[in-house]
Amino acid sequence: MRKVVKFGGSSLADAGQFRKVEAIVKADESRLYVVPSAPGRRFDGDTKVTDLLIEAYRIAVEGGDLHAHLQTIRARYDEIITGLGLSLNLDEEFDGIEHQLTEKPYLDFAASRGEYLNGRIMAEFLGFEFVDPYEVIFFNEEGDLNSYKTEKMLQKRLTRTGHAVIPGFYGQGKDGRVKTFSRGGSDVTGSVVAGAMKVDIYENWTDVSGFLVADPRIVKDPVSIHTITYRELRELSYMGAAVLHEEAIFPVRSKGIPINIRNTNRPDDEGTWIVESTARKPGYTITGIAGKKGFCAVLITKALMNSEIGFGRKVLQAFEEENISFEHMPSGIDTMTIVVHESEFIDHEQNVVSRIHRYTQPDSIEIESDLALIAVVGRGMRSMRGTAARIFSALAHARVNIRMIDQGSSELNIIIGVANEDFETAIRAVYDIFVETQL
Ligand code: ASP
Repeated sequence: MRKVVKFGGSSLADAGQFRKVEAIVKADESRLYVVPSAPGRRFDGDTKVTDLLIEAYRIAVEGGDLHAHLQTIRARYDEIITGLGLSLNLDEEFDGIEHQLTEKPYLDFAASRGEYLNGRIMAEFLGFEFVDPYEVIFFNEEGDLNSYKTEKMLQKRLTRTGHAVIPGFYGQGKDGRVKTFSRGGSDVTGSVVAGAMKVDIYENWTDVSGFLVADPRIVKDPVSIHTITYRELRELSYMGAAVLHEEAIFPVRSKGIPINIRNTNRPDDEGTWIVESTARKPGYTITGIAGKKGFCAVLITKALMNSEIGFGRKVLQAFEEENISFEHMPSGIDTMTIVVHESEFIDHEQNVVSRIHRYTQPDSIEIESDLALIAVVGRGMRSMRGTAARIFSALAHARVNIRMIDQGSSELNIIIGVANEDFETAIRAVYDIFVETQL
């Protein structure tokens, strides 16, 4: 058995957290490749090292006191080094960073140093080899991962080592400069290493015991999800449930490697398994609930719309020409509704409306704003009768008016539109009916 273990920023925020990571890594010989993030927040209101480094770049460009700012960052690392009783000295590293940022500041280099330095400390602490992603992770001209070259180089480099530490978040751009993934990208590095080395499991250690069925800011102490498929995860993340970087799925998915989300602070919790497919039934018919506010619906009515060929295309053309992407499109016999993000739509609304009028001569166009969308997601819904009925009666009991319903043909999700102000109540009601009453 071989595993990649990625640790997020909160798992590495100070020396105490490093010790927890050490215990986790050392508890299992198969935890071969360790991918650390940069130190995250130690307490509410604290600043992540990556943000401090981005600020360093800004200071370098605007000509502020770069040296003093870098010393603040250095203090965070020195605190970790001393706390762990290591003798590592970062003089040279910080001189190099200051020199680079003074001479030729560039953002990706600055941002990437958080992971680089944490990787150096982690390698020293664990007694593992340090592998700089600059030498094994490559981007192409367009700025996307060059998977082919990256896989080859990772395989070449890592088959020669036993245990290794490979910092997350960055690699080498086509121009030979350091380049980072988008924010939260250490998840992607972990996945890329797991995929290239064809390990058995990609463990992603964070500060929650996996995915929760609903947002804990809305539902008190929600239960966690034991197993979720990649497709369910995609539906939930799209609707705002964020634990894992979106691009972290692809490198492992194509190789059939499961991702296990774990909690560094509660290492005995099993966490959540993200898998391609499973025979395991979700605990509660539904796998998860997520949602977002701030949508609006454009309702177009025209008698005999159903028999007018090309009607839908012309409506969508009006949105396309205004460069607006649509989220959902529930339709009736003589009605068609296009749901869009209010913030994207608002400046273009009259242009869109007049285009629709010109292209399709509808009977009426109505715009409803302040709409929230809630996705109830679950592979178990396909084989269960009455799921929709339970959702709707729960919402009726909670006195929430449903303004739109859209069930994807995959039967993997049901999307419900409610007023923004009913958003939290609706999520709680759906959660309660499936989880609290455990039917
Ligand atoms: N440290 C980077 C960030 O804050 C990458 C990561 O943590 O995954 O975005």
